[in-house]
Amino acid sequence: MKNILEAPFMIEMKRITENMYRLGWDERNAGNISYLLTEKEAEAYLDLNVCVRTFPLSIDAKALAGKTFIVTGTGKYFKNVQHEPEENLGIVRISDDGKSTRLLWGFSGGGSPTSEFSVHLMCHSARLKANPANRIIMHAHPTNLLAMTFVHSIDEKEFTRTLWQLCIEGIVVFPEGIAVLPWMLCGTNEIAEATAKKMDEHRLVMWAQHGVFGAGNTFDEAFGLIETAEKAAETHIKTMHVPRINIPTDAQIAALAEKWNVNYRKDWLS
Ligand SMILES: [Zn+2]
Repeated sequence: MKNILEAPFMIEMKRITENMYRLGWDERNAGNISYLLTEKEAEAYLDLNVCVRTFPLSIDAKALAGKTFIVTGTGKYFKNVQHEPEENLGIVRISDDGKSTRLLWGFSGGGSPTSEFSVHLMCHSARLKANPANRIIMHAHPTNLLAMTFVHSIDEKEFTRTLWQLCIEGIVVFPEGIAVLPWMLCGTNEIAEATAKKMDEHRLVMWAQHGVFGAGNTFDEAFGLIETAEKAAETHIKTMHVPRINIPTDAQIAALAEKWNVNYRKDWLS
């Protein structure tokens, strides 16, 4: 069996958590990531019959029965993942009845999956239906995106249009726009269901006054989505106090989307 600490997904997990922490997106124990391993990856690096512990699930995850995820731990700090992956990360497999998960590796100090694991699992289900290659769900608190939800309309059309205006790659990177949920209590099945519903059609979902969820095929893709939206939000926050005298028109933004041949939300431009 191959050394799991050398698995590409483990290396990616360490690199991405370090990056996100350094960018200030994941203070203290904020943020969580889950990656759905392929069966080939799971078999190459893990004994799938191991059961270190089990964790009950508060949602019905039958649609993901038998699937294996590497996930960040509840209360764990992203800054520590690279130094102590076995303490801060865990690999779990969903039971056949979808009611619990079995720990195969990690959480060596007695930890458990992120408290937002229900959101992750429901978002994985939604994204797998939309695109079977979407394997990553990522949650973070990027400062400028978060700040925008305090001072900008959280109507998702208006929120998206501002982001498209303020970062040249915006409409190309997230042509479906960014979905926005109003403030809701986190850690509940209600917010998990609402987020997953938005994930049917979007890879980026804002939680107003809290943070963002991103989905993608790869760590880079999910990270890049959040990074691009955050860049646009930073430009917004830095220019919102002064008169903006040069703003791309909707026609110019649409031209970018046409040039790159992306299927964008035409009704979100006026
Ligand atoms: Zn959060």
